[in-house]
Parts: sequence; structure tokens; C-alpha cells
Amino acid sequence: MKENRNMEFNAVPADAKLPTKYGDFRIRSYVDPIDGSEHAAIYYGDMNNQTPPLVRVHSECLTGDALGSLRCDCGPQLQHALKTIQREGRGIVLYLRQEGRGIGLFAKMQAYNLQDRGLDTLDANLALNLPADGRNYKIAAHMLSDIGYDSIRLMTNNPDKVEQLVEHGVNVVERVEHKAGLCSENREYLRTKAARMRHILPI
Ligand SMILES: [Zn+2]
Repeated sequence: MKENRNMEFNAVPADAKLPTKYGDFRIRSYVDPIDGSEHAAIYYGDMNNQTPPLVRVHSECLTGDALGSLRCDCGPQLQHALKTIQREGRGIVLYLRQEGRGIGLFAKMQAYNLQDRGLDTLDANLALNLPADGRNYKIAAHMLSDIGYDSIRLMTNNPDKVEQLVEHGVNVVERVEHKAGLCSENREYLRTKAARMRHILPI
């Protein structure tokens, strides 16, 4: 693993132990020099092993990750990633602070309100003049490069995420299916993502 010496990106490395109920991880923080947003890489195992590691690129979801919301599958997806990495013995979760597919918490609640009135997750964003998916993975590519990897095995059901990472110079050598979190509350949400946003439904 490289020392975090990229001064342009992050002046002071911040890297610490992170014992979790899933195992003894480490966490390294990053600050995006463009917008000041803070992100984290949560990693497990030997980062000097140059075999492409298992990686999950997870975008923050306050309601799903922290509050146990069943409107989406984010919480179980995050937990499944940490468990899978621990079981495999090595891997990285990139936790990106781009709430609500990049539209932010306030707009996400506006979109939820429209969904409560019958719109699906895509039309709700479009009705608010917001992008269907405003996430950007440039920082993810940078974080991987900083840790020392340009080739990864990506846990995702989202082909767009694979393509965006490839565009940013990440070599995705394998897409690993990521099945977790389907329930009756989020079935329509996931069906919309499969039917209209190219996701491969995790069932
Ligand atoms: Zn979510």
C-alpha cells in the first residue's frame, strides 16, 4: 500500500483502525480538493497484495445506511459488502458522500415526497429538474489509485458504475454480483432501477 503523500489531493493523511462487527477494518479519509467533500475508504486485509481486490463503491444514504430505511437497499448492500470482504480476506469499500444519487439530502426528501404521491424514483428526480443519477466516480478512481490499485473486482449490479469507473481509468477486471436487501417495501424501487436505469435486479 502506498503512503498517502498526494499533497494536491489531501494535505494530511488520516488513516486509522476501524474495528467493526464485521471484522477489523482500517479507514482512510479523503477531502475532494474541488468541492471540499469528505469521503472514506474502509479497507481490510493486505493492501500490498497486487491481485485486483474486491471493491464496493457505495454512495452515502443517510436513510438507508444509518436509519434502516426499507425504501431502498443501501443499508443491506453496505453490510453485505463489508461481510463479503471480511469473508474473502481482502477488499475495500469506498464510501462516497454523494447522498441521493448525488442530489443531496434535501432534494432526496423532495423526491421521496413525490414518490409518496405515486411517481417512481426516476420520474421524481426529473420532475424536480434533477438528474436521474448525478453521481460522479472521479474521486473513487483517485482513492483507489492512492491506495495502490488500478485494477479491481467490482461488487455491483449497476453497469453504469462500471463504465464510469473505466472512463476514469479504473480497470474493472470482473463485475461481481451484489445481492442483498430486496424486500416488499423496495421492490418497485428496484424494478424501476432495473427497467429504466439499466440495473441488473439483485434477485
Ligand atoms: Zn438508499
